[in-house]
Amino acid sequence: MKRNIAVIGAGAAGLMAAVAASDAGADVTVYEKNEKAGKKIYITGKGRCNFTNACDVQDFFDNVVVNPKFLYSAIYDFDQAAMIQFLEDNGCPTKVERGKRAFPLSDHASDVTRALTDHLRRNRVKIHYNRGVKKILAKALSDDELAADPKSRATGKISGLLLDDGRRVAADAVVLATGGVSYPSTGSTGDGYRFAESLGMEVKPQAPSLVPFTVRETWPLELQGVSLKNVQVTLFPAGETAKKKIRPVYEGFGEMMFTHFGVTGPLILSASSYADFVKFPEGFLLHLDLKPALSQEQLAERIAREFDAAKLKEFVHAIRPLFPERLAGVVAQLFVAREESASDQGNGIHRKAYTFNEKEIADLAALIKDLVLTVTGTRGFNEAIITRGGIAVKEINPSTMEARRVKNLYIAGEVIDVNAQTGGFNLQIAWSTGHLAGISAAEGTV
Ligand SMILES: Cc1cc2nc3c(=O)[nH]c(=O)nc-3n(C[C@H](O)[C@H](O)[C@H](O)COP(=O)(O)OP(=O)(O)OC[C@H]3O[C@@H](n4cnc5c(N)ncnc54)[C@H](O)[C@@H]3O)c2cc1C
Repeated sequence: MKRNIAVIGAGAAGLMAAVAASDAGADVTVYEKNEKAGKKIYITGKGRCNFTNACDVQDFFDNVVVNPKFLYSAIYDFDQAAMIQFLEDNGCPTKVERGKRAFPLSDHASDVTRALTDHLRRNRVKIHYNRGVKKILAKALSDDELAADPKSRATGKISGLLLDDGRRVAADAVVLATGGVSYPSTGSTGDGYRFAESLGMEVKPQAPSLVPFTVRETWPLELQGVSLKNVQVTLFPAGETAKKKIRPVYEGFGEMMFTHFGVTGPLILSASSYADFVKFPEGFLLHLDLKPALSQEQLAERIAREFDAAKLKEFVHAIRPLFPERLAGVVAQLFVAREESASDQGNGIHRKAYTFNEKEIADLAALIKDLVLTVTGTRGFNEAIITRGGIAVKEINPSTMEARRVKNLYIAGEVIDVNAQTGGFNLQIAWSTGHLAGISAAEGTV
């Protein structure tokens, strides 16, 4: 008898679980509350879908920020090369770009979804759209079943699903792949967390991640739209600075952008993965080094040369060769504000370059290498690429993706408490956990 498997969610993890389970011979039905599959896949990689990262396996795990070890079996079962091969074999040629980021050759995210749904059609998998799931149905294990496996933590087993329209459907196994809560307009509204909690599982609190920062200072507003390519950022917990040994939670180098609310860009999104506001409710201090390639002394020498060459110019103009124009203006204002509060010189923004002494030039270099922003929060789930938190990994057997408390329930994708950096890693987590969940569901335990 073919096993009858119900998959909740036609996102990346659910579609791949359905592929793997149907390839393994199971009879698979997918329930999706949206009108189509892969709504989130469609907006990934700015519509191009950075579907994986072709790095080696150690680099892969280094880019997983939370619970990398949990993913070992899933990644070894179905790694990045396997995903590239799957797309190539299913009518979606691929390419690898800078940073080993892999994309469909067409640059169309919809081609990735189509490769999956075409495969499912060939395997005669039924996908029911506009059909949300309301509840996962499980029944208690009998005394005999409990006695047969005394080491198991399972107290229940899957019986089926309750749909939003009130119908009940029977299933031998269920794959839960409902995603997180970021970009809820794509369908990820946290239903999976409620299902898991109702089955007695621990769900870690959720927070937005890979998300822009809001800041207290107002000067980033003046720089709205200014993008910086080679910046070093260091993120410290605020309020910890008074303590002796403060450790940064993140240090990185790359590209960032100023906005009307604060800061964004790849470097900031990466930093946000480490900004745990539950652990550090006072927020964070973001230190920006605008000239990381130069030591403070080298930068002071460079400024001295610029000032020497433009002695009679206002210093704001003299430092322009170092920065984009608007940034030079803001740096000059911040310097003047700091100097005026430190002494009462009050020479202001119009000071001529030649009036700067060695100490003032050193102070200016120090400021450029350490501009501080007070991070007050993030832009929230509507702008977060992923969700931090989710179903605790201790609730799931990493070798099969089966829930430890409920037999024949398998869990995959962003609904789990794992997350990674940008670069194709999060989608690969969805493919790998989805694949392992699908294979395991087809094999079954009871
Ligand atoms: C703007 C943006 C860009 C991104 N770009 C990239 C990128 O380039 N590379 C990368 O690796 N990652 C990227 N990500 C992250 C990546 O998209 C996600 O990590 C991944 O899609 C998670 O897959 P999932 O299948 O677990 O969840 P989802 O893709 O969220 O799918 C869950 C599905 O379940 C359905 N569902 C939910 N509840 C129910 C229910 N009760 N009944 C029925 N169906 C239900 C939803 O409608 C949805 O279709 C990006 C994310 C965003 C928001």
